[in-house]
Amino acid sequence: MSLFPKIIWRLSDENIYLTFDDGPDKNITPRLLNLLNKHEIKATFFVVGQKAERHPETVLQIHQNNHVIGNHSYTHPHLIFKSKGIIKEEIQRTDKILLEITGKHPTLFRPPYGQFGLAVLSVLKSTNHRMVLWNASPQDYKADASIQRIQARMKKHLRPGKIVLMHDGHSHSPHMLGALENILEKIKEQGLKFSALLN
Ligand SMILES: [Zn+2]
Repeated sequence: MSLFPKIIWRLSDENIYLTFDDGPDKNITPRLLNLLNKHEIKATFFVVGQKAERHPETVLQIHQNNHVIGNHSYTHPHLIFKSKGIIKEEIQRTDKILLEITGKHPTLFRPPYGQFGLAVLSVLKSTNHRMVLWNASPQDYKADASIQRIQARMKKHLRPGKIVLMHDGHSHSPHMLGALENILEKIKEQGLKFSALLN
């Protein structure tokens, strides 16, 4: 038995795994869900506990559309500077909120900023979560993230086996959504397959 939790940062099958962090956002997330529905794409949402608490109806909507919901901490802190006690509190508080809304215990965790140390690994082992990182980022959070720029970066990253990091709870998320709208329309004929992560 390993001392560490399972860490997922790439997958070797032919699917593309879209992941959306830092939501739910009451405006962006429902629009994103509509877009994903239109293209029959399932994705994974790493939600922030305190936002889920404020917008349970949006979390429920994600769940009812059969996407996978993962834990992205309660307050989105830099966990690398936190004690095991605080880390555990961040994770379990969010688990509890998500369980109450969806009836499902999240099994996936993504650390805020992708940062983790031994304390995070040790806590995830005890809480029985798998940690999900990414191997593709269109950098939709950057200050220069216009629709055109995100779209150009997406074009490079939407490839089989990629776990793609995007954000539905960020100030640039309207641009992310615009870029995704354009690109999904364009790549439709390429026969690319999308999947949510295994919960
Ligand atoms: Zn985040």
